[in-house]
Amino acid sequence: MQESKGREWIYPKLVKGKLYRYRDALSWSLLFLLFAGPFIKVNGEQLLLLDVLNAKFVFAGLVFQPQDFYLFVLAMLIFIVFIVLFTAVFGRVWCGWACPQTIFMEMVFRKIERWIEGDAVRQKKLDQSPLTVEKILKKGAKHTIFLLISFLIANIFLAYIIGSDALLTIIREPVSQHLAGFIAILIFTLVFYGVFAYVREIVCTVICPYGRLQGVLLDKKSMIVGYDYGRGEPRGKFRKNQENVYGDCVDCGLCVQVCPTGIDIRNGTQLECINCTLCIDACDMVMDKLQRPRRLIGFKSEEEIETGKPFKLGKRIYGYSAVLLVLISVLAFMLIRRTDIEATVLRAGGTLYQLRDDKTVSNLYNAELINKTNHTIRFDITPEEPSAKIAYIRKIDSVPQGGSIKLTFFIIQPQANIATYKSTVRLNVVSGNKVVDRIETVFIAPPNL
Ligand code: SF4
Ligand code: SF4
Repeated sequence: MQESKGREWIYPKLVKGKLYRYRDALSWSLLFLLFAGPFIKVNGEQLLLLDVLNAKFVFAGLVFQPQDFYLFVLAMLIFIVFIVLFTAVFGRVWCGWACPQTIFMEMVFRKIERWIEGDAVRQKKLDQSPLTVEKILKKGAKHTIFLLISFLIANIFLAYIIGSDALLTIIREPVSQHLAGFIAILIFTLVFYGVFAYVREIVCTVICPYGRLQGVLLDKKSMIVGYDYGRGEPRGKFRKNQENVYGDCVDCGLCVQVCPTGIDIRNGTQLECINCTLCIDACDMVMDKLQRPRRLIGFKSEEEIETGKPFKLGKRIYGYSAVLLVLISVLAFMLIRRTDIEATVLRAGGTLYQLRDDKTVSNLYNAELINKTNHTIRFDITPEEPSAKIAYIRKIDSVPQGGSIKLTFFIIQPQANIATYKSTVRLNVVSGNKVVDRIETVFIAPPNL
């Protein structure tokens, strides 16, 4: 490793074992999903859209707006409990196998680096060598490709925020018409380039809050990448014709050389370990050569390593699972009950009731209708009570997609029907032949006139 003002630059060696190949396949599938995501449409909407600027969020074609904030809070709560549960069982496996940071770093940027500069030993040599034409060409080519890929990632990242259609418009039309969008892409490009070219594993070991939380989330029953010290120690190389006083670890150091965060897993569980499982592959390879059983380093719990007993779920896991199940059920119930239109009707402030010549009585109301879909909805408001009628001040009969409208109208009832001073009126918001929302409001009138 090269000393550079306190930071040790890491040159991880590549060992292509079974787990690496699985990880490689999973990474490419996830990358495909990430890049295709903004262009997959469900119900005319992007599969996933996080438009924080316009407070519009889309999941699987369902549009969520600020009035769905309670659903958002609930979904976030489910996400947090899921992360806690998942981490308590499987440790930091997300970091090593599915996190976009690791996937891009290990499966894209490092591959390009190896392709241009060679393996770990050659990379280190190149970094330490004086400036030559070869070095300039290699470094120039690497950083140009890094910048291009960062630019691509920045575009995709933006597509999840402003939508793929808006992004394509920015790309097609002159830069001068979309200066803000263009600057955003440039800033994201530089951030991604900085992360993947220089910051690298520091994101996982220092910056990422999830990584910092491991100490709280993990316990002895959590699955982690761990070294079986009972089997491995005392470590050392035995020589032929000598009595073997050592454990299975021959202290070859390969598990350390492959580690992208530069740690020695034999020192026990460490916050820097992202569970990438590369050291498992490396050690398995050594064990195969020595004809000893695999998994001296393996994916196991600390308890399993300590006692040799197989992995068992703890009470904590059952507790988290129960909480998660309840939260998911509540969210599912709310989603099923969620209507396309949300209507609120309130009696107009400062008015009481109006007695009319035709022996009816009326109350004045203000209403707001919000359309939560991605299409215009035509509607009508009808009272459930057949004798009641609605008279609009100004009739509006449609709500634009994702928008809202305000209405003012009278509800008119025959005086003879009024039994109490304050009664409840039920209104149906009807679209087509379907009731899309039901509202209750108060009606005031002197009884038994
Ligand atoms: S790869 Fe295995 S044998 Fe080699 S040092 Fe690491 S734990 Fe020991
Ligand atoms: S210790 Fe092993 S699993 Fe952990 S980061 Fe290093 S190589 Fe990956």
